[in-house]
Amino acid sequence: MSEAIDCGLLHGAFLAAAAAHPERPALEVEGETVSYSELREQALAIAAGLARHRSEEGPPLTATLVHRSAAGFAGILGALCSGHGYVPMLPNLPPARIVLMLRRSGARSLVVDAAGQGVLDEVLDAAPQPLLVVLSEGEADEALRARHPRHSLIGRRELDGAAAAWVAPAVGADDIAYLLFTSGSTGEPKGVMVAHRNIARFLDVVVERYSLCETDRFSHLFEITFDLSLFDLFAAWKVGGCLCVPNAKQRLLPTKYVLDSKLSVWFSVPSAALLMKQMRALAPGAFPDLRLVLFCGEALPVSLASAFAEAAPNAVLENIYGPTELTLACTHYRWTAASVGECENEVVPIGDPFVGMRAKVVDEGLAEVAPGETGELLMTGPQRALGYWNDPERTAAAFMVPPGETELFYRTGDRVRRPKGDAPMTFLGRVDSQIKIHGYRVELGEIEAVMQREGGVDAAVALGWPKAPGGAKGVVGFIAQQGVDIDALIERMEELLPRYMVPRDIEVLDEFPLNQNGKIDRKALAARLDAAEDC
Ligand code: AMP
Repeated sequence: MSEAIDCGLLHGAFLAAAAAHPERPALEVEGETVSYSELREQALAIAAGLARHRSEEGPPLTATLVHRSAAGFAGILGALCSGHGYVPMLPNLPPARIVLMLRRSGARSLVVDAAGQGVLDEVLDAAPQPLLVVLSEGEADEALRARHPRHSLIGRRELDGAAAAWVAPAVGADDIAYLLFTSGSTGEPKGVMVAHRNIARFLDVVVERYSLCETDRFSHLFEITFDLSLFDLFAAWKVGGCLCVPNAKQRLLPTKYVLDSKLSVWFSVPSAALLMKQMRALAPGAFPDLRLVLFCGEALPVSLASAFAEAAPNAVLENIYGPTELTLACTHYRWTAASVGECENEVVPIGDPFVGMRAKVVDEGLAEVAPGETGELLMTGPQRALGYWNDPERTAAAFMVPPGETELFYRTGDRVRRPKGDAPMTFLGRVDSQIKIHGYRVELGEIEAVMQREGGVDAAVALGWPKAPGGAKGVVGFIAQQGVDIDALIERMEELLPRYMVPRDIEVLDEFPLNQNGKIDRKALAARLDAAEDC
């Protein structure tokens, strides 16, 4: 077996940790503990299976249709160890959405676990390209093969002993480590390409900043389609730590999960912890073993930061900020007793750029605003991702060189206050119609495009509602055309969009209210929802 370990690669860091700590637990999932050597064996078998059977055609990308299983995590590592970037997909997404991502990514290989196998027939029937499918947990029996003659299928039994045949692939730091689809305002999701170089840099920064080590036990509350999940998996597996995967019940009641799993590192969107606060599960001193608490993904309410800090008295608590395009997070703010005075709008500041990252706050004409003024945040540095997959136009619009600069900056679309004196940078909202629902990034424009197309209407509006501290709890739609079967429209949207993007209700108006510029008055529609709630 050839094994050139390059720790600058996502899988290289895992292989190095596996070599250093073969017997340590890499993963606890579904009551099972998987050691580094076991996980490595499974990952390399999948990698060898992929490399042996796939054709040279197509992009260096392998999709993973898996959900929180040991075989699924091995599948992600297997895709990477085969020399491909991974494209995460979830089995509980509508099959049409999975097929859309397969088509857009052009991936020719797919790893599925038992959960993924549950939707495999539907996905394979509709997949536009022939696929090499590795069943990391099941067998490719004759019946399955006969149903899908266009595709090649490899079952688990065929992977037995395959790890020995694994050969380290040629992968460079600029190659894609993962391709992550985020909501796109024009109606289709866009794939953010993140290079090994970008994620390696992020991991180096956080390992050093938080002194992560092999005794750390990491939470895993994010879905693998959310880039923040890469911290859980790959920070743990870089330092020889353990990824502790909660089951469905523990995810609902994370308080018990923190204690039962003896977590030392908690990382979530504020929404997840807000629920704990609302259920009065954040008693002072409740989590003495937590030594690091990180929040990211949406605005962090002051009241939550303060309650969590009291519940985890021995932990460092930080609010970190960043979009997928800047590789998970690129600014940090440490919560201290003095923090309350630095907060704006009851939200915790986002603070300073990570080492090596540079921020610029600009006005609409892209001129830098004065300290203390507000504007859009642009950022650049080693975590700036490669751009959008097969989409040079959107890449050029979002990654641009501002006047007076020579480097590409990413336009975050976030409105912030430029730091003045000792004051930290604060987050004030968005400059566009992107919102967060339980931490998920949602372009209202994407929902509107689907509502318009599937409803056969000229215009449609989606609003985040009811409002929540970091964004919204759901979506409500509006159309101004009689005769549309609303139940059928919502059902159709359920077939196309992730559940959190499907409107809870679509109101039919006689006509849209218009603002002074003759545009649909979204504020008036939001006020209408607020008024209905007050009634
Ligand atoms: P995503 O690409 O899904 O990670 O979403 C990125 C967006 O989430 C950012 O552009 C912000 O709008 C929001 N966001 C991320 N972290 C924070 C934070 N700590 N505070 C406020 N908003 C945040």
